[in-house]
Amino acid sequence: MTRHKLELIGLRKEYDDGNVVAVDGIDLAVESGETIALLGPSGCGKSTTLNMIVGLEEPTGGDIHIDGKSVVGRPPGKRNIGLVFQDYAVFTHMTVAKNLSFGLEVSGLPRSEINRRVGEAAELLGLTDLLQEKATRLGGSQLQRVAIGRTLVTKPAILLLDEPLSNLEAEARQAMRNELRRLQNEIGLTIVYVTHDQTEALSLANRIAVMSAGKIRQFDASGTVYNEPAHTFVASFLGSPAMNLVRGELRRDGQALAFKSGALTVPLPARFDAMAPADQAPVTLGIRPENLRIGQPGDSGLISTVSVVEPRGPEAALTVEAANTDFAVVVPSAARPEPGEEVSLQFPEDSLVLFSGETDRNLALPHNVEEAA
Ligand code: ADP
Repeated sequence: MTRHKLELIGLRKEYDDGNVVAVDGIDLAVESGETIALLGPSGCGKSTTLNMIVGLEEPTGGDIHIDGKSVVGRPPGKRNIGLVFQDYAVFTHMTVAKNLSFGLEVSGLPRSEINRRVGEAAELLGLTDLLQEKATRLGGSQLQRVAIGRTLVTKPAILLLDEPLSNLEAEARQAMRNELRRLQNEIGLTIVYVTHDQTEALSLANRIAVMSAGKIRQFDASGTVYNEPAHTFVASFLGSPAMNLVRGELRRDGQALAFKSGALTVPLPARFDAMAPADQAPVTLGIRPENLRIGQPGDSGLISTVSVVEPRGPEAALTVEAANTDFAVVVPSAARPEPGEEVSLQFPEDSLVLFSGETDRNLALPHNVEEAA
């Protein structure tokens, strides 16, 4: 059996005698050297999960393994986990050097080893020239680098980052993202990154666990989570604008397969035949705004009207109404129509995604076929 760096097994946390289920039985395996993101909206259970991994909260069910051994019940200081959160928690009256060495001095490590580790961390984080500066003189991203450095000197098995960039300005955030990416490459640390920001998750994580209501809805490579969402929640949480989702039903007419919702009919390709449930079964059709195509009114596709045009620099986000349904469409700015213009709306077959109307799960994914049957 392969040993995971970190494994959450049926992890559960209830508050108020079970009236609040903050984390609802999650399973997650993180491999050594991998960066994963826990991504989800506020209140979905990210911090509670993190606090249980660190040891600040004890689970009410399930288990947490680090290097194959349970750490439940072990105090936070004995789990070999580094935690960095958005408020830095840097001692501003101390120098950068003191901030980096403080934790190690408390642990009684020899001076020579402390100096070696501090020098190494400072070098790695570009803090060498700032070692004698008081932390009060530092800016947001420098403080955050000190906070990360202070954790790295303890040589944690796993680094947990809780919304580490949310107090930074946009420019500093971009710089820190690059910095974190460099750190991943240089030291191959195992990182669990908690964020509500999809851009951060998509740009930093090898794999993303998308959470809602205490559950992991999908845990997959970043590209897969974006292109093949396992659940309508994942489809609607990622992307800007998010994936178009239309509730309707499936229609089977001999060999022909179609999606129908009121006046809207979209022919479906043959690949849905094997996975799709019976005639008139409730389904949700999904398509990303950047995958919809608009053409001239005479072209193939649905006759529709552009109601909103939002310029976004190189591209434009449109709202297009077809058969009483609003679709978000993203087009290159050069191809941007005017509000009120009539266009044809085309649904490229390869980009269509079909979800069960009952379970909200992607019908193309194997385990969902059984569930839908
Ligand atoms: P996130 O970090 O994703 O914003 P949290 O883990 O903080 O989510 O919270 C998940 C859910 O658990 C929320 O509904 C929150 O209100 C609830 N919760 C968190 N901590 C407590 C607590 N100490 N007592 C009761 N409910 C809590």
